[in-house]
Amino acid sequence: MNFDLTIEQKIIQKTIREFSEAEVAPGAEQRDKDKRFPKEIFQKLGELGMMGLPFPQKYGGADSDTISFAIVVEELSRACGSTGITYSAHISLGGAPLHLFGTEEQKQKYLTPICTGESLGAFGLTEPNAGSDAGGTQTEAVLKNNEFIINGNKCFITNASFAKHLALTAITGRDGAKKEISAIIVPTHAKGFQVIDNYEKMGLNASNTTELVLEDVHVPEENLLGKRGEGFRQFLITLDGGRIGIGAMAVGIAQAAYEKALSYAKERKQFGKSISSFQAIQFKLADMAMKIELARNMVYKAAWLKDQGRKFSKEASMAKLYASEICMEVTNQAVQIHGGYGYMKEYHVERFMRDAKLLEIGEGTSEIQRLVIARSIGC
Ligand SMILES: Cc1cc2nc3c(=O)[nH]c(=O)nc-3n(C[C@H](O)[C@H](O)[C@H](O)COP(=O)(O)OP(=O)(O)OC[C@H]3O[C@@H](n4cnc5c(N)ncnc54)[C@H](O)[C@@H]3O)c2cc1C
Repeated sequence: MNFDLTIEQKIIQKTIREFSEAEVAPGAEQRDKDKRFPKEIFQKLGELGMMGLPFPQKYGGADSDTISFAIVVEELSRACGSTGITYSAHISLGGAPLHLFGTEEQKQKYLTPICTGESLGAFGLTEPNAGSDAGGTQTEAVLKNNEFIINGNKCFITNASFAKHLALTAITGRDGAKKEISAIIVPTHAKGFQVIDNYEKMGLNASNTTELVLEDVHVPEENLLGKRGEGFRQFLITLDGGRIGIGAMAVGIAQAAYEKALSYAKERKQFGKSISSFQAIQFKLADMAMKIELARNMVYKAAWLKDQGRKFSKEASMAKLYASEICMEVTNQAVQIHGGYGYMKEYHVERFMRDAKLLEIGEGTSEIQRLVIARSIGC
């Protein structure tokens, strides 16, 4: 067994860590307050060749692996959770389904602008009445004269304001009560397609979360992604990969909170001593370090299995569930170690705690991860 990163992975880690510390972390607090999406960061990530990291070079990607993707998400999230989720969704929800299920022509046309960063990647599954039960999709796409005519609503969709196109699920037919769900690539500038960006969120304020409204949107039949009726299965496969991204985000945010808490504990004096000399604080920090270490190993293992072409669905679910739950605990304890200052925005840890909460909800809630794991162990 070898726990070392490869030379390429180490180079990517060093590059993205330096970039994140220099370009991403400094403005994170202000962007959170202003709810400002950092377009310029993604332009620079494009210049660094990160926007198509795990995709083939022939589409403008870097032919890298899932472990490297997890490292990039982790480092970006350590600097800014909003930047982390944007990147993670761009690759694992936006690019991945096109790469996995697209035709050669679709990849040339739609994956290439994602790899270059010209378009951000987005994915439209959730609807107002179909969240955990994603099969409850109500969006309809009717095929008429070689065109799909799409009507429906999607909610909470990451990155859509900056996406030139996105894949979404829609009902393309019915057999009695059974729905045929397909995935369709839809240009966001299509007539009748509105992207609405006005949610007031708890955290991840500098990320883009949108509502999609589709009213008689016409797209050519050739925009069908994969086979008709396989949209739901394709999106479940996509979410398996996405969970590695959420797990990596959790590791990055937890790491940032732990580092801030450790350094604050050493500086802060009460009763004439650093609070880090109190065993109660030391035990909190020891638990934080241990849980982050375990979560990182779980995320990297799931990524490694995916890179080996092996089954990774259970491990991705376990990594996402564990990492997001310890991220919530670690960020909560980081606020606690900061005392009253932790409640103030300028100490950053309250932002980490707000950002962390989404990780227990997005891409399958903790309850849904437990269902996935229970199914996979034969319950
Ligand atoms: C910031 C943000 C970004 C997002 N980005 C995207 C995106 O890019 N694309 C996209 O398609 N979606 C996105 N989502 C949606 C996200 O994936 C859903 O919110 C999530 O899957 C939960 O669905 P829901 O909100 O409808 O909750 P519900 O499904 O209504 O769940 C409510 C509660 O019931 C529980 N529950 C539901 N069913 C069961 C069950 N069978 N057993 C036990 N408990 C259950 C849930 O765990 C939860 O606690 C995003 C959400 C947010 C907040």
